[in-house]
Amino acid sequence: METFEADAVVIGAGAVGLATARALALRGREVLVLEAASAIATETSSRNSEVIHAGLYYPTGSLKAQLCVTGRRALYQYCKAHGVEAHRCGKLVVAVDDAEAAATPALLQRALDNGVEDTRLIDGAEARRLEPSLNPEIRVAIHAEVSGLFDSHGYFLALRGEFEDRGSAIAFDSPVTRGAVVRGGIEIETGGANPTRIKARSVVNSAGHYALPVARKIEDGPQYPGTKMRWVKGSYFVASGRAAFARLIYPMHSQASQGLHLAIDLGGRTRLGPDAEWLADDAGPPFDYEVDPARVAMFYAAVRRYWPGLKDDALSPDYSGVRPKIVGKGEPSGDFLIDGPEAHGVAGLVNLIAIESPGLTSSLAIGEKVAEIIGV
Ligand SMILES: Cc1cc2nc3c(=O)[nH]c(=O)nc-3n(C[C@H](O)[C@H](O)[C@H](O)COP(=O)(O)OP(=O)(O)OC[C@H]3O[C@@H](n4cnc5c(N)ncnc54)[C@H](O)[C@@H]3O)c2cc1C
Repeated sequence: METFEADAVVIGAGAVGLATARALALRGREVLVLEAASAIATETSSRNSEVIHAGLYYPTGSLKAQLCVTGRRALYQYCKAHGVEAHRCGKLVVAVDDAEAAATPALLQRALDNGVEDTRLIDGAEARRLEPSLNPEIRVAIHAEVSGLFDSHGYFLALRGEFEDRGSAIAFDSPVTRGAVVRGGIEIETGGANPTRIKARSVVNSAGHYALPVARKIEDGPQYPGTKMRWVKGSYFVASGRAAFARLIYPMHSQASQGLHLAIDLGGRTRLGPDAEWLADDAGPPFDYEVDPARVAMFYAAVRRYWPGLKDDALSPDYSGVRPKIVGKGEPSGDFLIDGPEAHGVAGLVNLIAIESPGLTSSLAIGEKVAEIIGV
C-alpha cells in the first residue's frame, strides 16, 4: 500500500467538507480531501431545498442557531463575491388556524433572540397583499426577508476552485476504510482502486451519512457508545403550471421538519416539500431515493391548506434526500455534533456528525469553526 504524509485531511467532499477545506486552505494549510465518489457533492448536498435559511426555528444558543445566522450572512456575501446566483426572495411562515396563529409570537421571539434581521409578524391581509394566491383564511404570518435560494452547485465549484488555487486537492474514488490515532497525528487508509495510507496532522471527518461509522473506524478515536443514527427521508413533488408565488411559503412547522413548504426554484419550477418520513430503526445508507407516488395525496392536503388554488393532477414526484439525526422520533430536534479534541481528547481530529438542515446555509460558518477548533 502506498504511504505518504499530508498536512490536513478532510473526509467527504459535500458542502461541509468543501467549506472546511476552503477555510483551512485560506489559513495556509495544505489539505487533501478524500472523497468516496467520483465527483463532488453527490450525496445530501445535492438532495436538498437550496434554501438559505434565516435561522428562525433553532433553539437559541444552539450550534444550529449560531452557525445558521453567521453562515447565512457569510453565504450571501460569498455568492456576491464569487458570482454565484443567490436570490434573497424572503419567506412567509403562515398560520392557517387559531392554534397555529397562537404559536407565531413565540416563533418570532425565537427568531429575534437568534439575531435574525428583518423579520416581523404581519396580518393575513398583508400576507395576501404580498402573495395573492395564499388561502384567504390565513390569520397571521411571519415575514422573514432574509431567507432565500441559491445555486448550491455554483457555490461548491467556487469552494473547490478556491482551495485548489491554494495548492490543496481532492482525491476521488478514495473511500476511507479505517484509521488510527498515531504519534503526531492520525493515520487514514483508503480503499478503492489505489489503496493508500496517509498520515496527517489534522483530520476532519465530514462524511455525511457515514460520519459516525467513519469515526468508529478510527482506532483509539472516540467511539460514541450509545449514539445511534436515525434517518428521516424527505420527498419532493413539483407542481406544473405558472409559478403562483414570489416568496418561499412555509406552514407553521412540525418537529421533524419545517413543514411541507413551497419554493419557486431558480429554474422557475414550483417545488413542494420535503415531507418527513422516519425510516425504520434498522435502516441505513445507501438509501433508496425513489419518491413514492402514493405520498401525493398527503402533499395535496397539506399544501392546499395554504394554497387552495393548487390544481388536481398538478403534482408529480421529484427527488428526495435523507436527514441524518442523532435523536429519535418525538424527541426535541437535536443539534449538530461538532466534536473536537476538547470533547474527545484526540489532537487534530474533528468529527462532524448529524449535519442536517441548516447544514448547507451553515457550511461556511462550520468551516470557520472547524479551523478554529484545530487551531490554525
Ligand atoms: C431533504 C433535505 C433538505 C435540506 N434542505 C436544506 C436547505 O434548504 N438549506 C440548508 O441549509 N440545508 C438543507 N439541508 C441540509 C444540507 O443539505 C446538509 O446539511 C448538507 O448538505 C450536509 O453536507 P455534508 O457535506 O455534511 O454531507 P454530504 O453532502 O452527504 O457529503 C458527505 C460526503 O462524504 C462522502 N463520503 C461518505 N463516506 C465516505 C468515506 N468513507 N470516505 C470518503 N468520503 C466519504 C460522500 O460521498 C459525500 O460526498 C437539507 C437536507 C435534506 C436531507
